Amino acid sequence: MKIKSGDEVMVLVGKDKGTKGKVDRVLPKLNSAIVVGVNIYKKHQKAQKGTIQGGVIDITKPIAISNLSIVCPKCKLPSKIGYKLGKDSKKRMCKKCKQVID
Ligand SMILES: [Zn+2]
Repeated sequence: MKIKSGDEVMVLVGKDKGTKGKVDRVLPKLNSAIVVGVNIYKKHQKAQKGTIQGGVIDITKPIAISNLSIVCPKCKLPSKIGYKLGKDSKKRMCKKCKQVID
């Protein structure tokens, strides 16, 4: 998985194209991620007895990782990620500025 929680990413396609946000959670099984402020849908919720109030709530839906690009923390550009292999480690590397991201 090239994207991790806490990464800054940019959306490449869809209604939020060009939007940047921080990855809140990665969902490997769905090949998706929850990105703060991206892919928000309004959901109308009926009032229920007890604590839940009726009204419109915002739901952040997962977005496919293939639709995201990492924004490199070093050069601040949306970039493809490569790997730099060390002796015992595999670190992510920005293909644009060649800096290790992790
Ligand atoms: Zn970079």
